[in-house]
Amino acid sequence: MTIEVEGLIKGYGDRVAVNGIDLHVAEGEIVAFLGPNGAGKTTTIEILEGFRKRDGGSVRVLGVDPDTAPLEWLERIGIVLQESEPIPELSAREAVTQHAAYYGHPRNVDEVLDIVGLTDKADQRTRKLSGGQKRRLDLAQALVGNPDLVFLDEPTTGFDPSARRESWDMIEALRSLGKTVLLTTHYMDEAERLSDRIVVIAEGNIVARGTAADLATQVNATTRISWRVDPGAGAATPPSKLRVVVDNQGIASISTDDVTSALRALTGWALDIGVELQDLQVRRPTLEDVYLALTDDTTPSTTVDG
Ligand code: ATP
Repeated sequence: MTIEVEGLIKGYGDRVAVNGIDLHVAEGEIVAFLGPNGAGKTTTIEILEGFRKRDGGSVRVLGVDPDTAPLEWLERIGIVLQESEPIPELSAREAVTQHAAYYGHPRNVDEVLDIVGLTDKADQRTRKLSGGQKRRLDLAQALVGNPDLVFLDEPTTGFDPSARRESWDMIEALRSLGKTVLLTTHYMDEAERLSDRIVVIAEGNIVARGTAADLATQVNATTRISWRVDPGAGAATPPSKLRVVVDNQGIASISTDDVTSALRALTGWALDIGVELQDLQVRRPTLEDVYLALTDDTTPSTTVDG
């Protein structure tokens, strides 16, 4: 295990920020640590990075307790913070070269610039780099020490959609290098796209963990069948077992786990009495729905795996 956390507790004054969580990340795994604002993500990550002391529980990162870790341990870790400003007068290459000097066995600087897609901008002063390019530079600085483990704190917050996608490509590059990655994010699509496994934290408790598919089965997120009520249908109502709800816009809907049977009963009824099911739609729950359901209810739930 690259990261082993058991019963981690951290409070600020009376406030419990992290409430006894367990977290395990295997070598080579990419895990997304997901949760709303104030959930405890940054506190946890900072404890794992050795920047913050815990109040309780045990933590091992690359086999070492971050509280008492030697300097060589830090060299095996790459950290990309939410915000960082490179020295504006340095070129991208100089900025990475300066960083490389902190490490005993750094990677080749041009190779790292290539991995993050900054070869074209190697000689450009960092003040002239775009926001997305600066994040690439952050990653290059984190990678130049050739770390085994990379922490990425909200790598795409504030990005426009195309910059987000570019960043995703860059994070995929970490996978091909075989790095272990723990990334925090607010975005469900990002977690689903980039990670092998998702861990959801809310109010200091882990509320779910597993693959995106595992998460979808952990909450009661049902499929919604809806249609526009035909004013010509008069008083005709579908069979009561379908539990149809009609809103004040004239949209009828059914929430169900058994879509096939519900559709069969509904369309059978409509065909029998000659009612048109206008705008008939079947909407399966998205992972976003699942996430909202999980983080609305902060009671710890059963977990799928470690
Ligand atoms: P965000 O997504 O907004 O970054 P987060 O999940 O990273 O949130 P944390 O920053 O770990 O959450 O904060 C967890 C809780 O601890 C919040 O209630 C926050 O207000 C509180 N907190 C965080 N840092 C401190 C601090 N230095 N002093 C006091 N309270 C803090």
